[in-house]
Amino acid sequence: MRITVLGSGTSHGVPVIGCKCPVCTDTDPRDKRYRSSIMVEEGGSRIVIDTGYEFRLQMLRENVSGLDAVLYTHSHADHVSGIDDLRVFSRERNLPIYGNAETMQFIKEHYAYAFDKDSFPGNPHLVPNVLAPLEEVSIAGIKVIPLPLEHGRVKKMPVYGYRFSSFAYLTDCTFIPPAVFEALKGVRTIMIGALRKTAHGAHFSFDEAYAAAKKAGADRIYFTHINHETGCEEINSLYEDAESAYDTMVLEV
Ligand SMILES: [Zn+2]
Ligand SMILES: [Zn+2]
Ligand SMILES: [Zn+2]
Repeated sequence: MRITVLGSGTSHGVPVIGCKCPVCTDTDPRDKRYRSSIMVEEGGSRIVIDTGYEFRLQMLRENVSGLDAVLYTHSHADHVSGIDDLRVFSRERNLPIYGNAETMQFIKEHYAYAFDKDSFPGNPHLVPNVLAPLEEVSIAGIKVIPLPLEHGRVKKMPVYGYRFSSFAYLTDCTFIPPAVFEALKGVRTIMIGALRKTAHGAHFSFDEAYAAAKKAGADRIYFTHINHETGCEEINSLYEDAESAYDTMVLEV
């Protein structure tokens, strides 16, 4: 299975508009981060997780001409706002999208035109599917287990992480329930959201994400959803067995 990092940045992206900080102005290409998203490819099938603001640019950069499905983690704007560009991938047939009940409800309400059978032909044509937590399903022949996570320490938003065989993608979380650690048994590689060095109300810090990934038994750990306070080079010096994901990174898992 091939994992391509389409984006590894937090909601502002990196660089942040107008910011002159050392990370936003440095020349390391790994510190240019689109909003977080990955592409999963196996056996001729291709799915993406989330369609943020740069979805079109990400598809162009990776030269993608077809998609079988989209999985959504949650409905925050940095994860769904590129949804209209799914029109390209739903010309020939309706494109299935998946997520938890809250996310599918939000998308159906805010992008109602994409679900109207009699809509304008140029619109996206999407089919919503609610996934049950912790129940393995096969999507375009790729087996996936939705992992319910909490995003936010006070106001908690339900988010799905996803496990594919020995790989798991967990972003935008501040709490991983015991049942999810159970469901992560046997995972080798984890890509996990980590905003910055210090704690944040809606995201793990590097230390918290690292501890969670170690607790889950991962031996390859990649941070994603990173903000502009920490450059890739510095993140890679924090732990011996964890590193920063960066846009265009490819993992074979
Ligand atoms: Zn986010
Ligand atoms: Zn900055
Ligand atoms: Zn979020």
